[in-house]
Amino acid sequence: MTTRIQPQPGIMDIELYVGGKAHVDGVSNTVKLSSNENPWGASEKAKQAYRSVAGNLHVYPSSDHSELRAAIAKVHDLDAERIICSNGSDELISFLCQAYAGAGDEVLFTEHGFLMYKLCAQAAGATPVAVREIERTTDVDALLEAANENTKLVFIANPNNPTGTMISEEEVARLAEGLPEQALLVLDGAYAEYVEGFDGHASLVEQRENIFMTRTFSKIYGLGGLRVGWGYGPLEVIQTLQRVRGPFNVNAGGLAAAEAAMLDVDYTAKCQRLNAEWRDYLHAELGALGIACDPSMGNFVLARFGSEAEADAADQALSSEGLIVRAVKSYGLPDCLRITVGKGADCKRVVAVLSVFKEGWE
Ligand code: PMP
Repeated sequence: MTTRIQPQPGIMDIELYVGGKAHVDGVSNTVKLSSNENPWGASEKAKQAYRSVAGNLHVYPSSDHSELRAAIAKVHDLDAERIICSNGSDELISFLCQAYAGAGDEVLFTEHGFLMYKLCAQAAGATPVAVREIERTTDVDALLEAANENTKLVFIANPNNPTGTMISEEEVARLAEGLPEQALLVLDGAYAEYVEGFDGHASLVEQRENIFMTRTFSKIYGLGGLRVGWGYGPLEVIQTLQRVRGPFNVNAGGLAAAEAAMLDVDYTAKCQRLNAEWRDYLHAELGALGIACDPSMGNFVLARFGSEAEADAADQALSSEGLIVRAVKSYGLPDCLRITVGKGADCKRVVAVLSVFKEGWE
């Protein structure tokens, strides 16, 4: 029987987003290095805060997220009224597309940018536009050329996933300055905390009316399983997004854990240090094996192989040893593998497997 219940035009053209693999059949001792999670986990204070809500699971969570917003405002020295919390930062990307883009509108992002920009634009009925990069790095000139009177949103991640590259504050400001006046620039700072001394461009948000910043608790704060994100932007944009979000979009455990994680600045600093140490190790050791990586500012490296066949074979070699990394074909990078920075011993395993692989391949 053919159904007459049909989705909106274009919905069935949306590619399914498949999350990073978590296990390999028949292989024990697996380590997941495919989703840019924090291998050191969440802070003990965050875990304790999460457990503390267990006695009250029948009660709806806060709908204005005031305590979490206050903690974020305190740590980042921001205006709590201009912060919005979400069910992961994915949800903010979706809210932005829902609120600002529809049929006939264009949503710009960079060619190797995070997939959700495209998928959320399509779900909103807008036209996604992938703009070329230069050497896997955001190209401000290309974005400015692509922007036109239909452009409503421009997404860039700084640092970018899956390339790990970053552009300077001056370049971001030049982009914001040059965009048409109806376009909102969204700066995705999912990996901002991995960059020492970086505010995710919060200060640019303060200076301009056309910038919105998104952040997450899924990466350095180690709370991917709880789904908490936040955004900072002009009051009008915040008030708009408040109208498309559900009243209880962030769960009680997530709110409690995120607040404790945000306030545990020593633990965050420790994770930043450990990540930098092992990211540098991976970068140097893979480079020595002839596997080039761009300098990554995130908690992953993008390993470039000589061909798609080589990347596939390396993926296979790693996974047969229980090391799960991320093929990034859907990001237009078929000859690359994205490897999340793991604990030291796991990074050493990656290097050992790739070393043997390289000997056999050449
Ligand atoms: N932006 C970027 C660049 C990401 O890599 C991710 C996670 N992979 C997200 C946003 C979304 O993260 P979350 O929804 O867990 O906050």
